[in-house]
Amino acid sequence: MQGRFVDQGHFDVLIAGGGVAGAAAAAALSQLQLNILIIEPDPAHGRRLAGELIHPPGIEGLCDLGLLDDRSMPGSAVKGFAIFPSEKDDSMGSVTLCYGKKPGMRHLGRAIEHRVLKSHLLEKVQNFPGVTAWIGARVIGMEKNSDGTFTAVVRRNQDEIRLCPRLILGADGPMSRVRKMIGIPHETRRYSGMMGLEVEDTHLPNNGYGNIFLNSAGVAYAYAIGQGRARVMFEVLKGADSNESIKTHLSLFPPLFKLDIERVLATHKPLAAANFCIVPSTSIQGNAALVGDARGCCHPLTASGITAAVKDALILRDALRETDIDIAAALRRYSGRCGRLELTRRTLAEELREAFLARTPEALLLRECIFSYWRTSDKARIRSMALLSSVDSSIFSLATQYGTVALQAFRLFPRWFVEKTVTDWHRGVLRLIQKSLAFQYAAMRQWLY
Ligand SMILES: Cc1cc2nc3c(=O)[nH]c(=O)nc-3n(C[C@H](O)[C@H](O)[C@H](O)COP(=O)(O)OP(=O)(O)OC[C@H]3O[C@@H](n4cnc5c(N)ncnc54)[C@H](O)[C@@H]3O)c2cc1C
Repeated sequence: MQGRFVDQGHFDVLIAGGGVAGAAAAAALSQLQLNILIIEPDPAHGRRLAGELIHPPGIEGLCDLGLLDDRSMPGSAVKGFAIFPSEKDDSMGSVTLCYGKKPGMRHLGRAIEHRVLKSHLLEKVQNFPGVTAWIGARVIGMEKNSDGTFTAVVRRNQDEIRLCPRLILGADGPMSRVRKMIGIPHETRRYSGMMGLEVEDTHLPNNGYGNIFLNSAGVAYAYAIGQGRARVMFEVLKGADSNESIKTHLSLFPPLFKLDIERVLATHKPLAAANFCIVPSTSIQGNAALVGDARGCCHPLTASGITAAVKDALILRDALRETDIDIAAALRRYSGRCGRLELTRRTLAEELREAFLARTPEALLLRECIFSYWRTSDKARIRSMALLSSVDSSIFSLATQYGTVALQAFRLFPRWFVEKTVTDWHRGVLRLIQKSLAFQYAAMRQWLY
């Protein structure tokens, strides 16, 4: 180590991490005339498999913050999801869930290749007033001060620098070191792995939609990312062989698209990522707050991580504005509001994952109920898409929709009576009622506290 410096108060805010969450937070807080320092260790904006599909509220937020521009936006427009049921219940083909159209509200999302998105946002935000970025630097420590605030220790080149900003944001992703260093415990569940590659979009089904293929090997995705390219991702469940899993996924893909993918797989090693559910015990500590995946993440089934990270930035900005930048009061507001949104997002992702992947009779009934509900009307599909895309983040809406989905079980009864066992149907219905009541209870608690 060559030097040790202490920088007192030059920066109001230090943001550890220059990913989507860090860039969005910097853009949002620069609107409050604060001096902001982003610390990002990865000068190459590392090529990795991560979020690309952004729902309309995320795009709206990034445009409002001045990080994306409608006139020159990278990537490809997304109208919603096209969901392909698993092999057992595919008699009626895929279901298309579109974003709802409301006057004054954006109804298109966007898919942007992750590295392109990350470098675009980070480059853009560095031109914002008051924003500085130290690329290649890293937050390596957090020292607790006697008043409960933290001093950040940053390694930059060969130097170790201590910074005492008014506010520190941990935007350093799901495995956040900042979270650990400020002493916030968390629960982790590793669901599965993900393998991904890029192919031509010529034979991509439902171009303009995020295709989600459900099957016994997990979830697979395919969507256009612009310039004639498409992203394909395959889930690899814990303990499963990745080649076998990819084969199973591909067996459900349209033949020509499958051929395109097999050709690329023969010459390119796919990118890999892990799918986690991380639930920290809190999102604030002293003068520090967590944003984006550091604040919590769930299975990428709903593709809502980026949208949630953008919402974090906007909520934090509003909380600081409302409290005249009283950090402690603003962080309390931030924590409460984000916690409510995250509960809905995480619960939805967990429920859908269980319904789509578990092989129990209860999960099968729920899966059939969901597809049956989606096939009832446009309104049902738009309501579901509002929840999936975080347009509607209310746990009340989730509880109500879960109840409506559960009612489909009675519609399905004659078929279950003939084709399956009534005992399984009963068990499934009991489970649906139990869950439905649990969600109503969670919604009530959230309303009360
Ligand atoms: C396979 C997969 C597919 C996904 N698909 C989607 C999708 O389609 N749509 C969607 O919305 N979401 C998706 N997600 C989730 C999405 O990727 C994340 O929610 C999003 O990238 C979170 O951004 P972030 O900025 O919080 O974290 P990250 O993107 O992880 O960024 C964290 C940053 O912190 C930096 N950092 C790390 N350590 C330090 C340190 N010590 N000091 C300073 N900086 C540090 C890192 O270099 C990195 O740049 C997906 C996730 C996975 C795994």
